[in-house]
Amino acid sequence: MKVPMLDLTEQYQNLKEEIHTAMEDVMSKAHFILGQNVKDLEASVAEYSNAKHGIGVANGSDALNISILGLEIGPDDEVIVPSFTFFATAGAVARTGATPVFVDIDPKTYNIDPEKIEAAITPKTKAIIPVHLYGQMADMDRIKEIADKHNIAIIEDAAQAIGSTYKRKKVGELGTTACYSFFPTKNLGAYGDAGMIITSDDEVGERMRVLRVHGSKPKYYHHVLGYNSRLDELQAAILNVKFKHLDDWSDQRRENAYYYNELLNKELSDIVVTPYEEEFNHHVYHQYTIRVPKRDELQAHLKEQGVATMIYYPQPLHLQPVFKELGFKEGDLPETEKAAKEAISLPMFPELTREQQEYVVANIKEFYKG
Ligand SMILES: *Cc1c(COP(=O)(O)O)cnc(C)c1O
Repeated sequence: MKVPMLDLTEQYQNLKEEIHTAMEDVMSKAHFILGQNVKDLEASVAEYSNAKHGIGVANGSDALNISILGLEIGPDDEVIVPSFTFFATAGAVARTGATPVFVDIDPKTYNIDPEKIEAAITPKTKAIIPVHLYGQMADMDRIKEIADKHNIAIIEDAAQAIGSTYKRKKVGELGTTACYSFFPTKNLGAYGDAGMIITSDDEVGERMRVLRVHGSKPKYYHHVLGYNSRLDELQAAILNVKFKHLDDWSDQRRENAYYYNELLNKELSDIVVTPYEEEFNHHVYHQYTIRVPKRDELQAHLKEQGVATMIYYPQPLHLQPVFKELGFKEGDLPETEKAAKEAISLPMFPELTREQQEYVVANIKEFYKG
């Protein structure tokens, strides 16, 4: 048997006709940039996030970039970020000339540890970027308390977490802005790059709308330096079709996660640490990530048996060569460094079958217990 990390072909077959119709409609009207499909998607995703504005952009990394610029953060400013995340979270900060300040994670959830944020705040701190890693929201009440106390913004990196909730609050409801990625492998994936920023702040929202079109307002008059970063109509048309299925897909992911938990806790509870879901969180399992000893050997064994896995993320950002000048060294963020050595993500997508999951777990068992 072969078990891929992710298989998007079945989903495509199920939605093929609807998607082709939506794409043909865009092509026959020949309105390719910032048309009705983008407006509709912005409205649906903003409403879904209990927020006022959705601003479609070219990808999730630009959603972060434009959020930071929209909040008028730049050189001489500091932004608090986790180190255990995808590069874009900190890359976006550094791109604007601001300094990323790395904070360690809570080893149970892999999300930024609120207890360690306060010690990293200085008079230069302008924002915190909690990343809702693997599909579970960070501890937003604590983060918001700290942000309000110090009068700093929250930019939610929600690239992996569309549809997740925290104490019944949606992604995008508590942050100043929230950033979605519609990269094809994300829970709501386009057929290419796409992203969106969510905000309920009218002023910041308007600045970000202007920033995505070269800072042009009115057209051909520029007061700020922006980007060319737009979500295109074809991608929006596809996403409008797929969006209607998002909650069902999230439910299927959750069911798959609980089945993995059941299998792993039955046979391997002495070796494997299954994901921890806070009781007040609705985790959407963008990834199903476990902690294990001899992680790299397990990965090689599973590969031989036809089971794909991924390591998110093998090298923490505070130890990346590009951030050498920030002065972090090995040992500075122990929980992050430990997770980078122990975490491994198993195949996860809505259409994953029980048979496939049983095969994955049987091979993990074989590796540890022969
Ligand atoms: C995917 C991802 C991004 C970047 O999104 P792109 O659309 O690929 O630019 C940012 N942050 C996190 C945590 C991600 O997983």
